[in-house]
Amino acid sequence: MRILHVASEIFPLVKTGGLADVLGSLPPALARRGLDVRVLLPGFQGVLDGLGKLRAVERVGPVFGAASVNLRLGRLPDSELPAYVIDAPFLFRREGNPYTGADGRDWNDNHRRFGLLAWTAAHLASGELDPAWIPEVVHAHDWHAGLTPVYIMQNPGLKMPSVFTIHNLAFRGIFPMDCHYDLDLPMRRLNPRGLEFHGNISFMKAGLVYSSRITTVSPNYAREICTPEFGFGLDGVMRDRAGDLSGILNGVDYAVWNPGDAKIAKSYSVDDLAGKPVCKRALQLEFGLSTEARGPLFAVVSRLTSQKGMDLLLAALPELLQEGAQLAVLGTGDGDLEAGFRYAASVNPDNVAVCIGYDESMSHRFMAGADILLVPSRFEPCGLTQLYALRYGTLPLVRRVGGLADTVVDVNGENLANGTATGFVFGEASRQALGARIREACAFHRNDAHGWTKVQQRAMRQDFSWDDSAANYERLYRGLLGR
Ligand code: ADP
Repeated sequence: MRILHVASEIFPLVKTGGLADVLGSLPPALARRGLDVRVLLPGFQGVLDGLGKLRAVERVGPVFGAASVNLRLGRLPDSELPAYVIDAPFLFRREGNPYTGADGRDWNDNHRRFGLLAWTAAHLASGELDPAWIPEVVHAHDWHAGLTPVYIMQNPGLKMPSVFTIHNLAFRGIFPMDCHYDLDLPMRRLNPRGLEFHGNISFMKAGLVYSSRITTVSPNYAREICTPEFGFGLDGVMRDRAGDLSGILNGVDYAVWNPGDAKIAKSYSVDDLAGKPVCKRALQLEFGLSTEARGPLFAVVSRLTSQKGMDLLLAALPELLQEGAQLAVLGTGDGDLEAGFRYAASVNPDNVAVCIGYDESMSHRFMAGADILLVPSRFEPCGLTQLYALRYGTLPLVRRVGGLADTVVDVNGENLANGTATGFVFGEASRQALGARIREACAFHRNDAHGWTKVQQRAMRQDFSWDDSAANYERLYRGLLGR
């Protein structure tokens, strides 16, 4: 089965969040199952540099405002999977991240940049760009690739099944209606039953309406997005397509995320946890935190946004500190939240540390060094950091929402008794509820060292590897192809 994955990020070449981790590990997991998988990526500098020797495939243009575009083929590092890259320097080789300039503002031609991504996918699907390899299913990820099924449909002779995966419905890829001139979109689809979203165009909606099947990254989030609370105005579309929607939990690349990790101060394992306190002390020393604290060390590795509940955490911080606990934060995001955490660190230097920035290697030291990883999200499609934390014996403290609810089993009497507990779960998105769960986690840490170790070991034995998820995706493709 030939499957083309279309996305804007891929670990380790370009990453702003979980999407990149998924693209870095799902296609190789499918290839290990014997599928013939390729990926298509925009030609960001990191992608061009990371794909090794590139071979010219086809040259097109002018398209989407670029005078000429070269489609090239290279191989992904590690997995050696073939990867097409759209080399369009005018559109993709810029300072900043894939979506925004250095000033944090979206590029004003994002509709053209990601329109080109989808357009290229559709022309690979038709065989016009690379007759030597024509996919049988095109699998597009998030709004950046959302126009893919629309461009596929523009070719009436092309019957190519498509899968569209929602990694986060909050980012809907909304652009003014008059962008349709630049994108060459058909007028008859520019209505509320098609691409229109309240007078604008939504790339996300395009993927939802026109793909053959829709998946999202956890079973619970698949249910949630059919409701107004989590649907971001697209819950009606989700309900219309509920029969074609499924939730497939993301996996973890345990070759990258494991406590045998060379990036951490001392490696450890489920059978020998002796290295974990060494990692904790190293993290405390790295950030000038006291090594004498009574309570556990909480950590955050996250975008600092209200989605991630970071305002709730700032509000609950006094309760955490009253317990004698500590907090270390690694993240970037909203200016107000960054300032709030910086301030908290400046007035509590022994017990609060903040690193505003994005640092892959440091994120491993956080995972290994902390006692508890906080993920108090308002909504969370899957969440990956809690899965990484589990493997490092760092107990997640999460809100009961989205994929967090699917993956963390609460430490309560019943789950402790039957040996299933892996972390701390709370319900309401409020300072009080988060604060209460923080206090309870601290009490458990203080009063039951043996119980804590047992939960850690249970957490570390959880298996969220890609094997099951990749099998589910394979089943979906087979269903589409009638095999
Ligand atoms: P989202 O994609 O919504 O941001 P996920 O939990 O799915 O959240 O994935 C986040 C990914 O980004 C994880 O791999 C996490 O370790 C990483 N990450 C987030 N913030 C940082 C940071 N400041 N430095 C390093 N890695 C980070």
